[in-house]
Amino acid sequence: MTAGEDERIRAYREAIRQLRDGRYTVELPADQEDALGELGRGLAALAGAMHTRAREEAQLQMVAEQTGAGFFLPQILDTVYEGFQGLIPYDRIGCALLDRAGPREEWRVVARWARSSAGEMEIQEGYAQPLVGSSLEPILDTGEPRILNDLEEYLKQNPDSDSTRRIVAEGIRSSLTCPLVAQGVPVGFLFFSSQEPHQYEDVHLSTFLRIAQQLSQVVEKSLLFQDLLQVNQRLKEAQEELKYLVRHDSLTGLLNRRAIQERLDEEVARGLRKGRKVGVILADIDHFKEVNDEYGHPAGDLVLKAVARTLAEAMRSFEQVGRWGGEEFLAVLSESDGEGVAVAAERLRAAVAQVEVPVGKGKKSLRVTLSAGCVAAVPEHRGWGEELVQAADDALYQAKEAGRDQVVIAELG
Ligand code: GH3
Ligand code: MG
Ligand code: MG
Repeated sequence: MTAGEDERIRAYREAIRQLRDGRYTVELPADQEDALGELGRGLAALAGAMHTRAREEAQLQMVAEQTGAGFFLPQILDTVYEGFQGLIPYDRIGCALLDRAGPREEWRVVARWARSSAGEMEIQEGYAQPLVGSSLEPILDTGEPRILNDLEEYLKQNPDSDSTRRIVAEGIRSSLTCPLVAQGVPVGFLFFSSQEPHQYEDVHLSTFLRIAQQLSQVVEKSLLFQDLLQVNQRLKEAQEELKYLVRHDSLTGLLNRRAIQERLDEEVARGLRKGRKVGVILADIDHFKEVNDEYGHPAGDLVLKAVARTLAEAMRSFEQVGRWGGEEFLAVLSESDGEGVAVAAERLRAAVAQVEVPVGKGKKSLRVTLSAGCVAAVPEHRGWGEELVQAADDALYQAKEAGRDQVVIAELG
């Protein structure tokens, strides 16, 4: 062995030691055309491959960390796009998700993200194509990646493929498509594409597949997140609806007995504090039983609704009305004196007298009248509301006795 050979072997040993320690940018004498030179070139190639591998691992690690940290899909795709440059071949990366609304025939593949160094993109976010009949369908069904090595040729064979036409127009010539799978179900696709034809013929697929696997987890998480948001939203709506239902009468839409009772209690409390009068009107439809008896219960319901709407419309901002029971309505007026409450009651009575409700087969218009008892007083204690309603009820009874379709004012205390 010559001294030169000895020196080269020492250099190779040193290089191997460095590679073992994870330092991949080693200096190797590999320019001589002998057997040792051959070995040196082999070692240099191995060092290069190990370096690439290590950088891939580091990038994958970063993607995994971002996934774990709850980064969103576009951010992680940016990391992939920037981080794997020079490590695996691509000029463009795209991501599309499957929209599974409706039957399979209506499923669509929707572009969600894309970046390209090949120039202007023809397939942008939101671009959607039906899944069925597309070249993506078998990928979805088998879960296997697919390589198209000559997209111009593929377009000739599939001239109707709009997405191929666009991607070829972008300058793309070959592509590798990996399925994105969440909980065992394919949910989308990750596209690596290149301006070179046959780019993916001999590539090692494992890095592409590992990227796809990481992204699948992100998609799965974000889909779950979206589900959660939707469920939350629905829950909120249901709560709102429940809140409404608890306070309103289902037939007429007016405040129900409980809600108008609460309003009355609030007004009594306020009247107590301020020493002001609270007014109450108890109104009842006259001979309502006859409406039911003659035209049927559904017609009775129509009349109830019409009367309720009329009462609600005739209310002023400081007055509120609710359905007290059957065909009885309670109105609560804040800061009202005896005269004011009588005026309001008369306004309600007169408004109802105008109402015509078309009922029955001949759409005969039906009229009804309203009797009302009203009262206004300064509350003396918290339970004063009950006494007000009782007084209004007594006055209502008098209005009925006196011939109905009228208002009677009660004196309290
Ligand atoms: P008065 O002039 O003395 O008030 O006579 P009236 O017939 O209106 O009074 P009565 O209390 O005898 O009858 C009330 C009727 O209201 C009886 C009941 O069937 C009817 N009613 C109560 N709630 C509803 C409802 O939600 N829909 C319908 N269609 N009818 C109802
Ligand atoms: Mg009645
Ligand atoms: Mg009644």
